[in-house]
Amino acid sequence: MEVVGIAGAGTMGSAISALFANAGYEVVLYDISVEALERARKRNEREHLLELEKVELKKRDRLEIKYTTHFLDLKDCDFLLESIKEDLSLKIEFFKKAKEVCRKAIFATNTSSYMPSEISEGANVNVFLFHFSNPPIEMPLVEISGKGDTSKYVEYARKIGKSPVVLRKQCRGAVLNRMLCALGVSLGYALKIASPYEIDASVKLFGMKYGVFEIFDRIGLDVSLDVLRSLKEAYPRFSSEFIEDVLQQFVDSGKLGKKSGEGFYRWLGEEVVSEKAENYIDITLMLAVVVNEALRIVEEGIADRETVNEVWKLATQYPNGVFDIAEIVGYKNLADQLKRAYQETGAEIFRPSRGFELLFG
Ligand code: NAD
Repeated sequence: MEVVGIAGAGTMGSAISALFANAGYEVVLYDISVEALERARKRNEREHLLELEKVELKKRDRLEIKYTTHFLDLKDCDFLLESIKEDLSLKIEFFKKAKEVCRKAIFATNTSSYMPSEISEGANVNVFLFHFSNPPIEMPLVEISGKGDTSKYVEYARKIGKSPVVLRKQCRGAVLNRMLCALGVSLGYALKIASPYEIDASVKLFGMKYGVFEIFDRIGLDVSLDVLRSLKEAYPRFSSEFIEDVLQQFVDSGKLGKKSGEGFYRWLGEEVVSEKAENYIDITLMLAVVVNEALRIVEEGIADRETVNEVWKLATQYPNGVFDIAEIVGYKNLADQLKRAYQETGAEIFRPSRGFELLFG
């Protein structure tokens, strides 16, 4: 039986360990925190089994997983996926150690905002991106990229019931988080005219399964802040003091979203306590910002149009991809909204990409 090591037993790692154990792999879940491992064990005994059942992936009534704080327990891994805190130097240190201990493993990272090549170069070992979307049991997307043959990674993703998407080139944030981050930054402007609940209700009315603030809560407001700050380094247009301040205030008061029971919403375990929205708002500008980033991703050769479209569908569980939405709403309409917002605010997030400029000057 192949051995799979998961490092980091938080929101993502704990659920990912459930996916691999459910698929029949021998799984070792490693973390430096005994408390995190204990929480993961509890979630794997109940919540994750229920989630697996809900998405019709459940294959067994009990998940066999070794929970450990001993790095050496990872030594027999065939596949090692790192899903620890979003901190580049921690990830590099992790793989420096892993390369000494895990002699036969192939390596992957679930990083949301770094390139696998940054980790590979820092640790002098080949690491691929194997990026889940949240909630990882429910969402079918796994973005894969890296230097060399990706076929084994694709096979692992398929074996645990996921729909892998292979990117042509690496970039910070891969495809999904670049689009989500652009959307997140535009929320800073939307919040000036509507509440988080009104924005979420409007997005859901449009057909998306989860509201954007609900997604923030599910990701974790601390992780969202780490990712936003990291991606801002790579893409200065993602600067938004307003949204950073909002997230920082939540984090400072210990409200981390679903994992702490409160964020933008209150949470009862896996269930969000819904909030009433008095009004709906026009979300065309928010859609325009996402399409704008999607066009940049295609232009940079990270992935082709069909792949970017597919990533949006898989991550939002919405029947239309980002370019299908653009067709429905109208590229000209989106371009006009961007131009107007850019003129009014001067914010780089609204500057039309070359794709839009070529189409509409
Ligand atoms: P989390 O904060 O819930 O969990 C992180 C875990 O890593 C903690 O249990 C912590 O004890 C552990 N840890 C920290 N340093 C460690 C080390 N040196 N060795 C071993 N364990 C260590 O975070 P998360 O939301 O599960 O995110 C983990 C990774 O997955 C991050 O890279 C994040 O960007 C990425 N990711 C997160 C999401 C999301 O929606 N939360 C989605 C996709 C990818």
